[in-house]
Parts: sequence; C-alpha cells; structure tokens
Amino acid sequence: MAKIVIVGGVAGGATTAARLRRIDEQAQIVLFERGKYISYANCGLPYYIGDVIADRGRLFVQTPRRFAARFKIDVRIRSEVTAIDRKARQITVTDLKTKKTYQESYDKLVLSPGAEPVKPPIPGIDLRGIFTVRNVPDTDRIKDYIGKRKVQRALIVGAGFIGLEMAENLHRRGILVTIVEMAEQVMTPLDFEMAAEVHQHLKAKNVEFYLNEAVTSFESRLGKLAVHLSSGKELRVDLVILGVGVRPDSALARDSGLQIGERGGIRVDEFLRTSDPDIYALGDAIEFPHPLLGKPTSIYLAGPANKQGRIVADNIVRENKRVYRGSIATAIAKVFDLTVGSTGLSEKALRAEGIPFVSSITHSASHAGYYPDAQPISMKIVFSPDDGRLFGAQIVGYHGVDKRVDIIATVLKQGGTIYDLQEIEHAYAPPFSSAKDPVNIAGFVAENILTDLVKIVHWHELNEAELSRSFILDVRQPDEYKLGKVEGAKNIPLNSLRNRLKELPREGRIIVYCAAGLRAYLACRILSQNGFPEVYNLSGGYKTYEFVTEKQANEDIFEGDVIGKDGNIYQTAVEEA
Ligand code: FAD
Repeated sequence: MAKIVIVGGVAGGATTAARLRRIDEQAQIVLFERGKYISYANCGLPYYIGDVIADRGRLFVQTPRRFAARFKIDVRIRSEVTAIDRKARQITVTDLKTKKTYQESYDKLVLSPGAEPVKPPIPGIDLRGIFTVRNVPDTDRIKDYIGKRKVQRALIVGAGFIGLEMAENLHRRGILVTIVEMAEQVMTPLDFEMAAEVHQHLKAKNVEFYLNEAVTSFESRLGKLAVHLSSGKELRVDLVILGVGVRPDSALARDSGLQIGERGGIRVDEFLRTSDPDIYALGDAIEFPHPLLGKPTSIYLAGPANKQGRIVADNIVRENKRVYRGSIATAIAKVFDLTVGSTGLSEKALRAEGIPFVSSITHSASHAGYYPDAQPISMKIVFSPDDGRLFGAQIVGYHGVDKRVDIIATVLKQGGTIYDLQEIEHAYAPPFSSAKDPVNIAGFVAENILTDLVKIVHWHELNEAELSRSFILDVRQPDEYKLGKVEGAKNIPLNSLRNRLKELPREGRIIVYCAAGLRAYLACRILSQNGFPEVYNLSGGYKTYEFVTEKQANEDIFEGDVIGKDGNIYQTAVEEA
C-alpha cells in the first residue's frame, strides 16, 4: 500500500488528495496543512470582506472532518512541514498547537504550498492596520478591523486583479478607496488602451487612484496611517491592503535541494515531477514553460492548480502517463460593473520578446442591438502577421466577456488562428449574441488587415508628426463629431462621402475614424476603390482614442484638509463620509 503525503490543503493539495482516493481506495493519504482550514475558496475572500458573500461558512468547500470522512484521508491541520529528508523519504512536521515536532515517512510526496504575498521592505510596513489577503485568517482580521475601527478610508497598494477586487468590495461597504499603482496603468496583463477603459470606469465610480506612484513609507499618526508617496504626497487612511503581487512559496523545496527555476518556482517536468522523481509539485509554487513562449512562467490561478491536482494524482497511481501542457494565463475579474478578461500574450509581452505581431481592436455589442440592454464589448486580439496564429486577447465589457474569453482561450490553446475565430459556431438568439458574434467579428477584421483589404493605424501612432502629415477624416455624424474629435479632423459623414471625394487630398495619408471602426472601414473601402492610395483605419476608432487621451489617474478626489479645533489635521471628506 503506497503512502502519499501532501503538503498544502487548499486548491492543489485538496484536489490531488480527493482524486487520489477516487482512483486508489487502498493508498494511505496524509494531508498536512499549516492553517486551520482546508479546501476553502481563496477566490471568494474579497467578496466576503465586501459582504457580497454574507455567510462565512460558504467559503469552505470542505471542512477537515468532512473531507477526512468522505475520502478516508488523514487530514492534519495546523501542521507545518518544515523539512524534507529525501534520502530517508521522510518529512519533519511541527504541530503548531503543541509545538511538537515529528517525522513522517512517504513513498510519494506532493508539494502544493501556494504563493506568498510580497511584502516590500518599505519603512513602517508592519504597522497595525496594514494587511495582505492570502487566507481566511487574513480575511477575518481585515473584516474585524473594519468593523472595530470604523474604517472610513482605505488604501490599496497595487492595482492587480486582487487589488481591484478589494477596492470594489471596500467601496461597496461605503469606505473611501484610494489605489496607488507604480505602473502607468492598472492590471498589468492588459495593454494600456484596454486598461484605460478600466481607468475611466474607476473614475466614474469615485475611486481615487494614483498611477506612476509608489509608497515610500508608512507612519502611524493621530490614530491613522500616514502614507508617503514617491511624489512627496501624503495620504491619511485607516486601513491599507497590500496587493503588490505574490511569489512562489518554494522555501521548503529549495531547502531540501529540489531544483528551483529562474522565476523562483519549483521546477517540474511534464508529469509535474520535481527534480526528485518521488516528489511532485503543483499550483502557485511551480514554474512551467509557457505554451506559446516555451519560457518558464509562474501562473497564480486556481484553474491550473485544480487541473494539475488531477494530473498529479493520476501520475502517482498510473505511473506518469498524463502530461501537463501548461497554462496561457486565462484570467477574468469583475471591476465594479465591468468585466475584464485576458488570455495568452499581450502586445506588451510580444514586444518584450521581439515577436512580430499585428493587433486589432474591435468594439461590438454583447448581443443584438435591437434587443434591450445590449452592452458594449471592447476586444483586442494579437496575432501573427505571417499566418494569423493567435497570440492573445483582452476583453473589457459589461456582459458576456467571460464566454468570449473562454472561446478565444480554447482556440488559442489549440494553436488556432484568426481564421478559426471566424468559424466559431456560437449559440445565437437576440438576448445572447448576434448572428455574427464579437469573436467572429474580431476574426473577420483581422483577416481584412492580413489580406490588406484595409490598413490600420493605432492610437499610439497618432503623434504630432503623424497628425500634421496626415489628413484626418471623421466619418461619424455631426452630432458625434461635436461631442469630441481627433484634433484637426474634418467631418464628412459616411453617407455623404461618395459625393464629397473632391474635398480629400489625392496624395498623402488619409486616416479615417468613426466611433468603433465599422463606418471607417466602409469609408476606407470607398476611398481605396476610388483611387486614394494611402488610406488607414484607426483601430478601435474614437472610442479607444478617447479612453487613452482622457486623463488616466484620479488623484486628490478626497482632498480638503482642515485644521480642527483641537489643532489636529482632518480631512473633510472623511469627516463627512
Ligand atoms: P493555495 O491554494 O494557496 O494552498 C496552499 C496551502 O499550503 C496554504 O493553505 C498554505 O497554508 C499551505 N502550506 C504552505 N506551506 C506549507 C507547509 N510547509 N506545511 C503545511 N502547509 C503549508 N485565482 C483565480 O483563478 N481566480 C480568482 O478569482 C482568484 N482570486 C483570488 C483571490 C485571493 C484573495 C487570493 C489569495 C487568490 C486568488 N486566486 C484566484 C488564486 C488562487 O487562489 C490560487 O492560484 C490557488 O489557490 C493556488 O493553489 P495552491 O494549491 O497552489 O495554493
């Protein structure tokens, strides 16, 4: 009877344990978890803080007792594995309740220790009121602190997926939320123009946020946290959530001499075996070649961890038959009313790798425009200029983002092309989509670009030199033009274009735009077929252009310091809130 020992009892660890039991009723399975809980919903934690999930009990997919009973697993919570003796095939465990240490043998060992939140060495980082969100106890502490300290202002450091989820959930509780982000944009897996749409939404929701800013120190002052920023600005808040990223929790593996990769994750082969064939590893703690780049990547997502659990269990019982193919980091987040999804590589990533690409932005509706409540969807795809092979997609919208990201991720993972997007056969009725789904449209537009039916320019190419050299043609209706335009653009609505060709230069570049790209495409076709040699469509149209040219950050919206009668400095917004 094989003895299988698992370190870590949440996403990867618990899945491995359950699958092991389903395929091997005889194995002895021992699961060690440092914390008090196993198999809980990390991904639900921000929503519990925001009271969207009101019942704490719902966070627990399983309790240690129920899990042990159902799967005949020896579950040992509050038990930290501190060392691995690979020669003797045994681990050292500290019982965190009794502080006693003991050894446990194994035939096969599985490591799923997860990732730990990064805590940069900023002065004051350990002050009361500064938290990270990794597990249930962190969440309990934050919730308790908000209640007891009557938190009115919160700062989120880092605008990644978890940071933004926390921002939304704190805002939902009536707390004034400020975000400080070091990059020029939120959600770094996105390209700038897609993040710009999120910026505009955060502004509409009255979230204060600073871009290109870093926290340099924290200080405790007058019962608040004074936060100093790189620009010299000081913020005063009651609560700080650090969301500046995570790193693989690979210390145990490193200390036992297992190979660690260049990104600090545990190195595994295609069977998810570490450099020791008796030890498997999975989840946030590993690194694995990216399916598109071939380079080691860390993926901190629940889906891959869960799926890897099944593979590890199968490989332990059935002797390494199942191969892991890697993850293309398909991710999604709700940011207030928006849904933001991404899969594969961004333009930024391709540029950094020196991989030639073409990108295209389309704006479509979530379902047929004539059926009520259709919502806009912005979609960016990046693909190979040679054969149209897909590299990645980013989608921002209000409804139906999830299914489009999933479709594209599926095509991408099969090595598909933009031509495959055209052929996606989707379920259609007016409340759900259009006869041509936004995914099909993205494929059609991409083909038009690749076959030179239309040339495109991007918002970032519209610099001063380009604007002065080119004739900019706006083919929207006059009402739309009046509300905002690209500087210097001439307005000739699409329907009168054929009659007004004389107003356009026969030489030089003409850059055409409309709101989303379709009317401009039609205009480009009219112009090209009337002998205008250099006609370009602005990809993403005025919509994308407006997202990027509007102010991006949202600073100082809670400003208004006053000196109180007691001589202390107060912020009016806080006092009034
Ligand atoms: P974990 O699930 O973190 O489990 C690791 C466990 O190992 C921990 O409980 C830890 O205590 C234990 N452990 C570590 N070392 C030892 C040791 N030496 N001895 C004993 N026990 C040990 N992903 C998504 O895809 N979508 C989301 O919406 C999403 N939201 C998230 C929200 C939050 C707040 C957080 C924190 C994560 C979120 N994730 C999300 C990420 C997802 O939860 C992780 O990718 C996933 O849990 C990784 O699984 P894992 O098994 O590698 O690690």
